[in-house]
Amino acid sequence: MTGRSMIAAMLVAGATALYASAPRVAHAEVAPAVLHSRADVLALDDTLLGRSGKLRARFLPATQAREFERIQGALRAESPISGTQMRIASLRILPIVPFSFKVAGRMGLYRMGFWPGEKRTTRGVSYDNPLGFLEVTPGNQDVQVSEHFRLGDFVTKDQSTIWPKYVVLREALVDKLELVIDELHLMGYPVQHLQVMSGFRHPFYNAQGVGRGGRARESRHQYGDASDVFVDNDFDGNMDDLDGDGRVTLLDSDLIILAVERVEMAHPELSGGMGRYHATHAHGPFVHVDVRGTPARWGGA
Ligand SMILES: [Zn+2]
Repeated sequence: MTGRSMIAAMLVAGATALYASAPRVAHAEVAPAVLHSRADVLALDDTLLGRSGKLRARFLPATQAREFERIQGALRAESPISGTQMRIASLRILPIVPFSFKVAGRMGLYRMGFWPGEKRTTRGVSYDNPLGFLEVTPGNQDVQVSEHFRLGDFVTKDQSTIWPKYVVLREALVDKLELVIDELHLMGYPVQHLQVMSGFRHPFYNAQGVGRGGRARESRHQYGDASDVFVDNDFDGNMDDLDGDGRVTLLDSDLIILAVERVEMAHPELSGGMGRYHATHAHGPFVHVDVRGTPARWGGA
């Protein structure tokens, strides 16, 4: 076995292990058993960077994180390696802390509450308790999880003085948001910054809005696969005037909706919910995007 094919075999073994034990993460269906050629290696490489090719971090249970780092070490030792392989070698690995580490609704001092599946039978497998959490510290909150998003973008907006914090985040969501940015570019609307107004919401925080602001008790935001977003290239905290008609309206956020529809058409496995939200006194128009696995639409989306 040549050095190159050793790496290929290790990548396959590692990737297969990753996907086998975490069936609901992104790219679960991508686990080729045999590599026949150099082209196969490159195809596998692409899946490790997400469908967008823009993931910069992978979220893995501890044992798989160690295995992946071993593969990365072998990849770095190869010379020369392709640009794609270099990006894989430099992927940041964030270990998933098991859900069972949460005690009495808390991770350390950080209060998270109880997931619906801890209290009652849920409506389906996508509402099972999450696999676990990514730890967020002042030191790693600025880590890029993909080209346009930082780990800290998805953290629940509460308990500002408590560290570490914990977040549930799925690679598929980050990947989908990157694809939406790509699609907006293709449509003629360059996006430098897609603001995550709300990403992960732990149940303790989510419950504070149930019944008042219309937050759902079983909100996908608790499962790390949902985000409320708007384009904010000028960082003014509001949706941009994308269509250039001089006003910020639903016509602007509807361009995001169109981009999401096109992404879901090209990647049905990233299908999910989409909600259309009007501006209020507190915020501009925004769009809810999730990757729950089945299409859902509300608010005229
Ligand atoms: Zn939402």
